[in-house]
Amino acid sequence: MHDKVDTANREVRGKVRIDYGVPLRSLRLGLIGKADVVEFHKKDDGAWIPFPVEYKRGKPKKDNCDKVQLCAQALCLEEMLNVEIPGGALFYGQTRHRHDVIFDEALRVETEEAAKRVHELIESGITPKPVYSKKCKLCSLLNICLPKVSSKASNYLMKAVEGERLYLLSFPRRLESRRCPRENGEPEYKESGCPIKNLGHDRSE
Ligand code: SF4
Repeated sequence: MHDKVDTANREVRGKVRIDYGVPLRSLRLGLIGKADVVEFHKKDDGAWIPFPVEYKRGKPKKDNCDKVQLCAQALCLEEMLNVEIPGGALFYGQTRHRHDVIFDEALRVETEEAAKRVHELIESGITPKPVYSKKCKLCSLLNICLPKVSSKASNYLMKAVEGERLYLLSFPRRLESRRCPRENGEPEYKESGCPIKNLGHDRSE
């Protein structure tokens, strides 16, 4: 569906101009991306109001994630074009229905908080552990994310490193070991030797 949307460029149908594959960015929120479709609706005063439309393969979801994605597109367009965008739409391939979405205050706040959380995650350098769910089947990242494999591997590694007293903070991007207690001057080292065997210390050091 996305391929079909991405191949065309622009068409005009009466008072609606339709742009496909529109690049987006927001300096304020630190977002960059591409909208499947942005319609521009011509108003009576001659102004063209953007109306983003996002195409999804599946059906409407219980949570707000698709609405948040669409609202993020609207926030980018508002900043780029210096206009107010009251609404957009989500089109679901499975139900062949288009659902209008109003960008109200609550959805805008939820979207801005989501963008903030993404930046906090990026700055932390920790990738959240993937959790397999039904939505993974339709996710375009499935073959990269491998949520089933990653969960199993993460559990395996967790058990494997417990004996070495390493702390698995996140798999697969970051595996951190505890600092050697000898270097920290902790009594634990003096009593039982360095518990981090990989460092190769012995009690005589
Ligand atoms: S495949 Fe990975 S990124 Fe996609 S929905 Fe599942 S857990 Fe999330």
